[in-house]
Amino acid sequence: MKSRQPSRRWMLKSLAATGLFPWVSPALQARTIKRVKIVVIGGGFGGATAARFAKRLLPQAQITLVEPQRSYVACPFSNLVVAGLRPISAQTFDYAALRREGIEVIPSHARDVDTAAREVTLAEHAGTQQKIYYDKLIMAAGIDFRWQAIPGYNENATSVMPHAWRAGEQTLALRRQLQAMPENGLAVIAIPAAPFRCPPGPYERASLIASFLKQHKPKAKLLLLDSNEQFSKQGLFLQAWQTHYGGLIEWRSPAEDGRLRAVDPARMTLSTDFESIQADVANVIPPQQAARICTRAGLTDASGWCPVQPLDFSSSQVPDIHVLGDATIAAPMPKSAFSANAQAKLAALQVARNLLDEPLLPTTLANTCYSFTTPNTAISVSGVYRNDQQKLASISGAGGTSPMDATEDFRRRESNQARAWFQAITTEAFT
Ligand code: FAD
Repeated sequence: MKSRQPSRRWMLKSLAATGLFPWVSPALQARTIKRVKIVVIGGGFGGATAARFAKRLLPQAQITLVEPQRSYVACPFSNLVVAGLRPISAQTFDYAALRREGIEVIPSHARDVDTAAREVTLAEHAGTQQKIYYDKLIMAAGIDFRWQAIPGYNENATSVMPHAWRAGEQTLALRRQLQAMPENGLAVIAIPAAPFRCPPGPYERASLIASFLKQHKPKAKLLLLDSNEQFSKQGLFLQAWQTHYGGLIEWRSPAEDGRLRAVDPARMTLSTDFESIQADVANVIPPQQAARICTRAGLTDASGWCPVQPLDFSSSQVPDIHVLGDATIAAPMPKSAFSANAQAKLAALQVARNLLDEPLLPTTLANTCYSFTTPNTAISVSGVYRNDQQKLASISGAGGTSPMDATEDFRRRESNQARAWFQAITTEAFT
């Protein structure tokens, strides 16, 4: 039987895809180090990738991943699930492959980090509280919602007005509500002010919900209440909405009274500055911040996000902790699975180099975000970033968006590339 253990060649190919390959020196691969302990908090795209790459770069290190969920439901492609075009099982991954590679996966919640003692305290289990020591901690805990930000919207409201901004039961709740809504009903998506997870995500969702409504409830309407004057891939999305959905989607910017001010889940109303809107389906995406464990560990600043050093994604505030993925302040890189995965490989490599007393080396990072505009067409935005001058900066002339004048066939091919990307990134992180 063929071994499922990924080969070193596979890993080097994978690093090559991120631009990290030239810096995995043979010396670094050959050297061995004393048994160090690396703890990763959060088993999403960032954390799972970081744990795997750290294990492969430092086979003798003890790598522990702390993640409360037994299986991870991926957000990318979850808008296809909302629109009834994909089963949620296609989004769901467990941690068996990581365990097979020798990573210790602890199904628990990290409750606190004692940064002086370098200990992570886990949630209490059967009356005992486990603490785990780390030499290096990789924090990849993603986002939390700022429940107090929209009056009326709290955790209880999510069953009536789902956010579906963490995939899983919320995704299915939104799908069920769309399927049950009246033929001529009104669905509303409320979009928070940036920064938030997946800048193009709300507009991809609008496209796919519109595609569902066009087919199943053509008299229905979709209203977008947006707290942003501009959005990712705006020209391409507006063009796609015009071409495929006519007047089905109405987008309101803040200048057009699009800012959500409050909700009343019992009445299914959403209030803006000048109007109270009665909705049949209300998808309220709340404002966000880094996951709460980041604040407890002293990693966040006044913005609620974690400042990092761009060279190695080490915390700007706490030694021996690296932060990556959605929790970070990494603009101009967007908060995406692609970014989290690239940052994870970079952090794992630089942690390994640091432990091996090798100097940190600058590199480039890349991101591409695909968005479906119909079930079979997609658009994309790409960026390439340098990290060698105390900050992350876009490399001008690298990256860009899909052309405005592309053919439908071009857009179909982009949707195939999106599917190949999903397959590749989930293989790298989870399978
Ligand atoms: P997460 O994936 O959220 O992982 C964080 C993990 O940490 C979670 O599993 C959580 O359980 C765990 N955790 C939290 N707190 C603790 C704790 N105290 N102890 C232990 N574990 C903890 N990105 C793309 O690149 N392409 C796309 O097409 C795309 N589409 C999207 C569509 C939608 C609708 C949404 C909402 C997002 C989309 N994204 C996309 C964004 C992408 O999902 C996120 O950017 C990505 O998941 C970030 O990875 P992460 O590892 O930082 O966080």
